[in-house]
Amino acid sequence: MAKQLSYNTIHEVFTRFQNSEAEPKGELHHVNAYTLVVAVALSAQATDAGVNKATHKLFEIADTPEKMLALGEEGVTEHIKTIGLFRQKAKNVIKMSRILVDEYDGQVPSSRAALRSLPGVGRKTANVVLNMWFKHPAQAVDTHIFRVGNRTGLAPGKDVVAVERAIEDQVPAEFQQHAHHWLILHGRYTCVARKPICNACLIRDLCQFEDKTE
Ligand code: SF4
Repeated sequence: MAKQLSYNTIHEVFTRFQNSEAEPKGELHHVNAYTLVVAVALSAQATDAGVNKATHKLFEIADTPEKMLALGEEGVTEHIKTIGLFRQKAKNVIKMSRILVDEYDGQVPSSRAALRSLPGVGRKTANVVLNMWFKHPAQAVDTHIFRVGNRTGLAPGKDVVAVERAIEDQVPAEFQQHAHHWLILHGRYTCVARKPICNACLIRDLCQFEDKTE
């Protein structure tokens, strides 16, 4: 695990991320808050691209919990069967939609606790929805962010909750909102798992990773 970077270094890292992409965006297809929750829940142990392929058609038919209930579990299963764990995920989408209709007037609640009470929605999914839809500076740590946080020293931690805390504690307030996407995109396209592309990395001189590639 790398040593925690200093405030000034972290500030410089995020200044560079910001200069390179001022408004970073997530890559999961969605058309409203409800479809975002469904898409993020479906993306567990699946790639965004794989989820998007399935949801383009699904969300044309069902972009509200009411329409998803009308489609039914079998209909949902049929649309998402190219995604891993699709049977369980289809069950959860239907259960979640039922709760949204019965308890939240068909709207997506905006607290972490209420989001996490929905079937198939864990801490990470709740934080993605809070960040992307409600513009709350929540940090959702996935495999990419965990790796980048630890390699660079931006947010070292032994588990995802520790990395989440480190980002919240260490990243200057003005960068908190977009930190999630900057770090995910950096991990997905540059600081990749097997062979990071260090020679094209815009924070190479600031990163603490000892095994940088040439
Ligand atoms: S220098 Fe290499 S290890 Fe460090 S952040 Fe960049 S790509 Fe990742």
